[in-house]
Amino acid sequence: MTPMKTISYLLVLSILVIGACQTPEAGSTKKPKAIFIILDGIPADVVEKVATPYLDTISRIAGYSRAYVGGIKGSYSETPTISAPGYMDLLTSTWANKHNVWDNYNQQPNYHYWNIFRMVEQHDSSLQTAIFSTWQDNRTILVGEGQPRAGNFQIDYAFDGFERDTLQFPHDKEARYIQAIDEHVSTEAARYIHEKGPDLSWVYLEYTDDVGHASGDGEAFYAAVRQADAQVGKIWQAIKYRESLREDWLIVITTDHGRDALTGRGHGGQSTRERTTWMVTNAANLNSHYTSEEPYVVDIAPTLLKHLGIVPPTEIRQEMDGTPFIGPISMSNFAAEIQGDMLHARWTPHAESGQGSLRIAFTNTFAKGGQDDYYTLGKVPVLDGQAKVKLSQKQLETYQRTRFAKIVLQGPYNTSNYWIVNAVIQ
Ligand SMILES: [Zn+2]
Repeated sequence: MTPMKTISYLLVLSILVIGACQTPEAGSTKKPKAIFIILDGIPADVVEKVATPYLDTISRIAGYSRAYVGGIKGSYSETPTISAPGYMDLLTSTWANKHNVWDNYNQQPNYHYWNIFRMVEQHDSSLQTAIFSTWQDNRTILVGEGQPRAGNFQIDYAFDGFERDTLQFPHDKEARYIQAIDEHVSTEAARYIHEKGPDLSWVYLEYTDDVGHASGDGEAFYAAVRQADAQVGKIWQAIKYRESLREDWLIVITTDHGRDALTGRGHGGQSTRERTTWMVTNAANLNSHYTSEEPYVVDIAPTLLKHLGIVPPTEIRQEMDGTPFIGPISMSNFAAEIQGDMLHARWTPHAESGQGSLRIAFTNTFAKGGQDDYYTLGKVPVLDGQAKVKLSQKQLETYQRTRFAKIVLQGPYNTSNYWIVNAVIQ
């Protein structure tokens, strides 16, 4: 390029940039789109060690964070670090005590806790949803597509089930067929997103976990991670193209669990390495829950919904266990206990001001499709980070009978909940 051409090029570029800045509604006219990708069973220390240029590129836009799965360790929400429970944590923004998926087989999801696809379809059935997946059960069982008791909705485009196609993908002991399916699925995800730009997409790739189980930590596993990164790269190129069409894309990439520290072959327990996962996102407006705390897998669905501008119905929202990690939030890390006749609630405040509404229920009829009657305990200043409220005689008597309470704190920006479970009934 000659110097003169460079100058004219820069001049044109400046005019274009100034022009873009002078359009008052430039940002708000972009259509929001959201995608999440699960790369199976990659511990945080491995993704941090292995060269992953595409994940690094996306991280540089916004951020990489270590994250957690497994619920609150030692509490009512502790969840096995197993794949299907992990996907359900993400999909429903609840832990296994609510979504009821504890293993990869014989799942009995409690569909009363809606998943993100149901929330999106319920909000506006004209929104386009897509699943690209190396495991068909994700759509047919966990999401529960087409099942009346799961809301009877359809995913607009599904590309999955190839693990059942033994002609095209003959099974082998080394799971090379899974490697081939991941390639097939990610290629189609990139093609479809480039062409159609669905409003909400889920891409699930499995091969990393298969190599992890077979070989444990080591070069074979790292090679699978590098390959998964390249598959993300194809999808990222498609998103870059869609962004040029004035679409506002949020991408979140994560894993469903870590691996055991000794060999890297297993997972399912509550060790630090099994619980420690990671997230990569291009989100422009990360909040302090992501940048100062380590987010949980259950935070992803509320974040994607917030980006899409979708607010789930109150009864669904107040059961969700996650905190959005974009935009303003009121609180995180909400917990509560009852001592004597006092309810002690505590949380990490994030908003500078505002009042939260504290409520309590002593039933869990929601889990069976019903409604719980909440007592309003009053307004509390969010900034305080804690509240102590005296329970009424009637509330105390009810608690002494049920030994169970659900506490909800609804802040100006987000809603948190906590269960008090006292299994010891004297
Ligand atoms: Zn897994």
